[in-house]
Amino acid sequence: MTKDYYEILGVPRGASKEEIKKAYKNLAKKHHPDVNKEENAAEKFKEINEAASVLADDKKRQQYDQFGTTANGFSGGFGGFDFSDFMSNIGDFGFDFDNIFDTFFGGSFGRRRRGPSRGTDLRADIEISLEEAAEGIKKRLTLTKKEQCDGCNGSGTAESDGIKTCPECNGSGMVRHSRRTPFGMFTTQAGCGRCHGGGKIITKPCKVCGGSGKRTQTKRIEIDIPAGVDDGNRLRVGGEGEAGDQGAPPGDLYVVIHVKEHDLFERHDDNVFLEIEVNFPMAALGGEVEVPTLEGKAQLKIPVGTQSHTVMRMRGKGIPHLNGLGSGDQLVRIVVKTPAKLSKKEKELLLKYADMRGDEVKPTKGFFSKFRA
Ligand SMILES: [Zn+2]
Ligand SMILES: [Zn+2]
Repeated sequence: MTKDYYEILGVPRGASKEEIKKAYKNLAKKHHPDVNKEENAAEKFKEINEAASVLADDKKRQQYDQFGTTANGFSGGFGGFDFSDFMSNIGDFGFDFDNIFDTFFGGSFGRRRRGPSRGTDLRADIEISLEEAAEGIKKRLTLTKKEQCDGCNGSGTAESDGIKTCPECNGSGMVRHSRRTPFGMFTTQAGCGRCHGGGKIITKPCKVCGGSGKRTQTKRIEIDIPAGVDDGNRLRVGGEGEAGDQGAPPGDLYVVIHVKEHDLFERHDDNVFLEIEVNFPMAALGGEVEVPTLEGKAQLKIPVGTQSHTVMRMRGKGIPHLNGLGSGDQLVRIVVKTPAKLSKKEKELLLKYADMRGDEVKPTKGFFSKFRA
């Protein structure tokens, strides 16, 4: 099926890159599954990204304009950009639209393939309580990962003359192959196999790391978990992934937050639900009850004549909004409790009460026999 990428982004055929970028950013923000809770949000979001990744790239756009498709299809990934990887980052509230768009435009991602590679991203999982999610908390993490080698500062050699320019590519990191064909000369360019695109080769490897420039080390770091995080959120900690090759930047650490279920509270977005029982006289006469909140105990006013299953709102007693000011609410469902056991005297009073109100009471036989006994 051929999709109309221009229509998806709502831009004219001749739209400039700037217009495409603007349209993409607006749509991506609107349809980001973190914000948009509609069922097809993820699908729509994927479509927007697909359209942008094609229209942002001159070559692919030209191909698409001409043939209505791109040669490799989308699934092949463009410019070293792995779409499935990107999709799995949904839920990361540190999501950076500009960064993703630069990726489409062949920014750092595209260049990365030739030079030394950036370090691998890492993932860590942290479990926190609902109270911790509401308040925010610092958590310590112990990571065992490849860090830059101290012996050579990541260069792979400790000697000043231990590294030299790659003779294969003369330091460019790329090699050209020219081929004569009946149609003329064809020149293709590829990454240099000898230096892996780095342009340099190590002649005297570092004794500590053997020339890799990296060492496996255990490191403790502290993670600042902001108030308002939800289960499944990802926190990006820049530069705390594994070390890159030969001085290339390190990867990032993604911390996945797991919020434990609470015994009393149930979270719905930034609101918390609580159910409490109130006795019938209190529900009828009104009063005040003490209820737990995430910040401790608070008083809740029960209005006169409260019906069972009435939901009361305690403003601002929920979870703080992660990306903005204010907090959700605590919603308290009041369940009016019917006494399960009554003494003889209580039964008499209750029947008298019903009689006074003209309330219809038809006690069962068993009830009567017990009552009369
Ligand atoms: Zn070393
Ligand atoms: Zn080389």
